[in-house]
Amino acid sequence: MFSAINRKVKRFVLRQQKKKPIVLISDTTLRDGAQMPGISLDPQQKLTIAKALAAAGVHSIDCGFPAAGPNEAEGIRLIAKNVKGSVLSALSRTLRADIDLAAELLSGVSPLKRAITLFIGTSPLHREHKHHMTKSQIIDTATEAIAYAQSAFEIISFGPEDASRTEPDFLHKVYEEAIAAGAVSIGFTDTVGVLTPDKCADTVRRIQDNVSNIDDAMMAVHFHNDLGLATANSLACIKAGVNVVQGTINGIGERAGNVALEEVVMALHLHKNEYKRSTTVDPRALSKLSELVAQLTGFQPPSNKAVIGKNIFRTEAGIHQDGILQNPDTYLPFPPEMIGAGPVELVLGQQSGKNAVRHHLESNGITTSEEHVKLVLDYLKGQKHDDGDYPEIITFLEKLRPFLADGVVPTGMASGNAADGD
Ligand code: MN
Repeated sequence: MFSAINRKVKRFVLRQQKKKPIVLISDTTLRDGAQMPGISLDPQQKLTIAKALAAAGVHSIDCGFPAAGPNEAEGIRLIAKNVKGSVLSALSRTLRADIDLAAELLSGVSPLKRAITLFIGTSPLHREHKHHMTKSQIIDTATEAIAYAQSAFEIISFGPEDASRTEPDFLHKVYEEAIAAGAVSIGFTDTVGVLTPDKCADTVRRIQDNVSNIDDAMMAVHFHNDLGLATANSLACIKAGVNVVQGTINGIGERAGNVALEEVVMALHLHKNEYKRSTTVDPRALSKLSELVAQLTGFQPPSNKAVIGKNIFRTEAGIHQDGILQNPDTYLPFPPEMIGAGPVELVLGQQSGKNAVRHHLESNGITTSEEHVKLVLDYLKGQKHDDGDYPEIITFLEKLRPFLADGVVPTGMASGNAADGD
């Protein structure tokens, strides 16, 4: 009786939630992200990242895969004890021992803030070469695990691994059975990152059309970036109606990484009219989150990385610098404050113009003549002068050091200069 009422209430809440114009952001930096070769996070570092994710407004956090070992389990235990606000989830195989361990690690968290994500491979490759199971064995294993997990979890997500390479009819059946067994969220995973935006949006629509009880579960997507399409795929699925996007900060993760959450959040933020859905993540937290994850994982995103790369707000080219000095919007996708970054950097190098040089000198309180500006520009462009000119250029370059592309002032360039001491 109680469970029947419970199920009705859950169904009502889910249907209400699905109608809201919101995309729930689920973070797996600490699990799929931490699986990236070369990354090793200790439990304390995981806690630091989880706190920052919760403070930024991330809806749910995949805290780890308990079966991976004691370090992983300890990280989940620490997060469960200390992080408030987000739903805290653990990844679990369809094994009772995994489910019991996840339940124990998250036991201190309130029932509506703790979740388990159960996974099993459903594609022919995974069924035949990994699980050695038939289709019906896969379904039985999944549904039994979901039923068992209900003793400890109200929120059960089910994610068929390698869903993007699973036969559509079988995939639909798996979802239907999983929802009937009690999963309140189903995941569509592109485990090896092979889909294109049109194909994944089509797949999502077919799931919605063919899974009879789909209204009783949230639908999540999990993309990898092997073709550089993870963000485009996630956005295409958002348009097709999915409720949850899972990814990582800085796009870290297996192989080419997971979808970068900062990209999805900013695309939704900048294109509200197009997507008509918002997230609870505060874009102003993105820059600091990115820096924190880079610092603790040791993986520095490339400077041309979308949204949070250092070059997004930095330019060396004269025409761009001149435009930005007149109005920053001329050559910026969005103001740095929007993601909590900044300020804009006008870097001085070979391609810079006199306005940027003068700007830097004047904003440092240095009045200067056209001739001095020209000398600095000549230096930047690699033009030679007589030795006698160098001390003056160097004086100016010293003031400009923080803005130079390489940050190096060539104090030794004037050969024979007594100040060099050689
Ligand atoms: Mn993955």
